[in-house]
Amino acid sequence: MSSEQKSQSQPGLDAPKAEGANRPSNPFSRFRAEPPPSYSVLLKQITSGKVKELELVPARREVIVTYPDGRTATVAILANDQQILRTAESSGTPLRVKDVRQEQALAGLAGNLALIVLIVVGLSLLLRRSAQVANKAMGFGRSQARTSPQSEVTVRFDDVAGIAEAKDELQEVVTFLKQPETFIKLGARIPRGVLLVGPPGTGKTLLAKAIAGEAGVPFFSLAASEFVELFVGVGASRVRDLFRKAKEKSPCIVFIDEIDAVGRQRGAGIGGGNDEREQTLNQLLTEMDGFADNSGVILLAATNRADVLDTALMRPGRFDRRIAVGLPDRKGREAILSVHARTRPLAEEVSLADWARRTPGFSGADLANLLNEAAILTARHQSTTLGNRELEMALERITMGLTAAPLQDGAKKRLIAYHEIGHALVAALTPHADPVDKVTLLPRSGGVGGFTRFFPDEEVLDSGLVTRAYLQARLVMALGGRAAEVVVFGASEVTQGASGDLQMVAQLAREMVTRFGFSDLGPVALEGQDQEVFLGRDLIHTRPSYGERTGREIDLRVRVLASDALQQAIQLLESRREQMDRLVDALIEEETLQSDRFYSLLGIDPPDRRPSLGQLPAWT
Ligand code: ADP
Repeated sequence: MSSEQKSQSQPGLDAPKAEGANRPSNPFSRFRAEPPPSYSVLLKQITSGKVKELELVPARREVIVTYPDGRTATVAILANDQQILRTAESSGTPLRVKDVRQEQALAGLAGNLALIVLIVVGLSLLLRRSAQVANKAMGFGRSQARTSPQSEVTVRFDDVAGIAEAKDELQEVVTFLKQPETFIKLGARIPRGVLLVGPPGTGKTLLAKAIAGEAGVPFFSLAASEFVELFVGVGASRVRDLFRKAKEKSPCIVFIDEIDAVGRQRGAGIGGGNDEREQTLNQLLTEMDGFADNSGVILLAATNRADVLDTALMRPGRFDRRIAVGLPDRKGREAILSVHARTRPLAEEVSLADWARRTPGFSGADLANLLNEAAILTARHQSTTLGNRELEMALERITMGLTAAPLQDGAKKRLIAYHEIGHALVAALTPHADPVDKVTLLPRSGGVGGFTRFFPDEEVLDSGLVTRAYLQARLVMALGGRAAEVVVFGASEVTQGASGDLQMVAQLAREMVTRFGFSDLGPVALEGQDQEVFLGRDLIHTRPSYGERTGREIDLRVRVLASDALQQAIQLLESRREQMDRLVDALIEEETLQSDRFYSLLGIDPPDRRPSLGQLPAWT
């Protein structure tokens, strides 16, 4: 077998497949086929007529050989090869010349196109990514307002108790939201903004929700502090976003809690204003102006510092309606307790009226907490109904802190017993003083060894009016503990246990002199109400408005008031030493003396339970 036969037959091993024959230009066929014939062998094959046709590709310097059986082979040739041309011509083998420039141009174009597409796709991906990042950054501006769908606001006016006036005032807002035509026909303009002013926990949020619930409209709620971010302008864009959303859902209620966080008077800061806050406030004002009349978006805002709000917020057309939501009175507390008792099984013995009397100064939230604590204690006691015992424990937990381990009998216990009985006995013997509710030696966490609780005077609490005699009696009552220590143990054995009482005495006596005009310095208010500096303005306003000499005189009056009260308490207790000892023995024995037991041991009728100046119902 000659070498050329071999070389011819070998490609044939791979070549029989029809598709192989149809792929003459497939570059890979070269690798799959047997090695192509050498140049000289090819010339011979052409001359001997073994080649069917030739295709010359000058640009690639090769020739594609097609054999009669359909096989192909690609053979390299010289540049500008004349030899193969002549051989083909002489043997009469058909020869075609293939121009690949067009192909190359096309391939180049395709390559370029692919590159362009790649760049465009890459760029658009990059742009998308950066747009997402930018969106997130801009997302700061989106308000976080929570929209409860209509059905979610389940609060109704029935769930809000004890603030009847506020409810009445807001009833018309509900009517407007339900039947706006009635108002519009009469040409009435419903307020755009209602400001709810009152201490925390009095039910402002609850009231706003109840309006949305009653009217069946969406409720947007946001704390004003959520507007203010690190970046200037974010708050303003949040305000815009909130109002945009609200207008889409109109009619609806927008509730902004703690509005003073943004609505504080502008330019009242120390060392320059807060740009972000002021911009936010400006935006809020602009948005409120931008409402069409009766657009159905009603803004409710809550604060407990209406005095620091910017006056621009209050002008008609903005928050022109101001509703006070104060601490509930006794009847109100009873109503709130019964609202929260709806879902809790109370024992027969529990009188909510009684508990309302015992919780002066409590807000709605405090009362809800009282019942909740009592329910927790009931569960712990594995009982099925909330009884007086649990309520009592819950009340003490809230007002006095958690219970601590009982005191062991000893000198310390005796000393605390004298201190507490000192308070109680002085109170029982001083006209105008609050009646004693309870004296106890059961300690509380935070170092409280025992305490005496009084029925605070509800009349005083409700009217907010206190007499000079009442305040003087309070000074004496507060110093009763220290007086008892002096009487029993001597002036050098008194303890620092009365430090809390002394602080309270100092504050009260100072107020009597400087604010209430209860001293011979005359009816002059020398100081304003003691409050934290809230605005830069307060710093200037709280500066004392008296001279050095008057200052010294004030200090003197305060000291005289306090030492007179201590003397009075000491005298009272000295004259009742025997009774005091008896009460102390009973207290050490029984650990707690309730009002009736205390007065019967003392041998006097318990005074009417005049309930209460609740802020300070107990002395330790
Ligand atoms: P505020 O907004 O005034 O700080 P909230 O409305 O948030 O107070 O009140 C907190 C919780 O206290 C309420 O969810 C509710 O359980 C209870 N509460 C407060 N006031 C009342 C009230 N007048 N009637 C019934 N529950 C009240």
